Amino acid sequence: MRLAIISLSSCLGCQMVFLSLEDYLLSLMSENSVSFAPFIVDQKKLTEVDIVLVEGTVRNGEDFRKAKEAREKAEQLIALGTCACHGGVQGLANMFSEKKLMRRRFGDGASFEGAPQGVMRLYPLDSYVRVDAYLPGCPTPRELLKSFLEFALSGTLPSRQGASVCAECQVSGIPLPQPGPRRTTDAIPVAGKCLLEQGYICMGPLTRDGCGAKCPSELGVPCSGCRGPSDAVLMYPTQDPKLESVRRLVRATERNARDVLGAISDPAHTFYKYCLAEPILRRRRPAGTSPYLYRLGEREER
Ligand code: SF4
Ligand code: SF4
Ligand code: SF4
Repeated sequence: MRLAIISLSSCLGCQMVFLSLEDYLLSLMSENSVSFAPFIVDQKKLTEVDIVLVEGTVRNGEDFRKAKEAREKAEQLIALGTCACHGGVQGLANMFSEKKLMRRRFGDGASFEGAPQGVMRLYPLDSYVRVDAYLPGCPTPRELLKSFLEFALSGTLPSRQGASVCAECQVSGIPLPQPGPRRTTDAIPVAGKCLLEQGYICMGPLTRDGCGAKCPSELGVPCSGCRGPSDAVLMYPTQDPKLESVRRLVRATERNARDVLGAISDPAHTFYKYCLAEPILRRRRPAGTSPYLYRLGEREER
């Protein structure tokens, strides 16, 4: 197989996960041809490949050109990371105009002459080019990427409907009501108990599974939603991340919705941190998202 990895506008975190595959990466490179990967292959131009992993979002014309080129030269195009799949944290830029963003970053006196022109609004990668498979995560979990590559390089892209992080979470219930809504800076959560039921803002019920519920199960902190929205959130308008989270927090704390919302100072960063570029657009598509969404253990289940 011929493989390539390219970055659009991104923090390069997902590409770092690819590099961190270490021994597997060496065996992958000995059995397959990695023709374009900026950190490991000294190759200036993308050539024709079987699989290209695309990280990041389209933020300017150069990103768009690169995304189109990747689509033209690859048999299969994989959206790598939540930025490519759903807009990710970069989608939060949709709250501001480009002018305001530049001034926030570089200050009032800065000159923007000759700067590349940005997009008016950020969208997921599949708004620009056809995507064959999605591998969300910020960054994509290492084991998940490795397992996905093993599968994809054997010639088939896995397919599966996604569940939520709660389906993988290893915590138990707690008597209600509890104080909240609260964050881990307000009080230390009780280990092994559901964080949402303790009144913490946990996005697990609305987030795609596949990470093994690492944050609530292993680290004892709420899920912030980095794997992006679950299928239910992407496809059903009633599953809005803010409305659904508030509804669940109302149940856990027995406070009314107005009080719960009033206690959350930044709803956009809290409920749409990884998917602000996503919801309205996706719900307009009758077919919803692609069936190709992968989680660890897929191979065994088939
Ligand atoms: S998904 Fe997260 S880790 Fe990956 S490029 Fe985007 S911001 Fe970076
Ligand atoms: S801690 Fe979060 S992810 Fe785990 S079951 Fe509770 S709501 Fe779901
Ligand atoms: S638990 Fe949530 S925030 Fe943590 S890795 Fe999984 S999806 Fe990301």
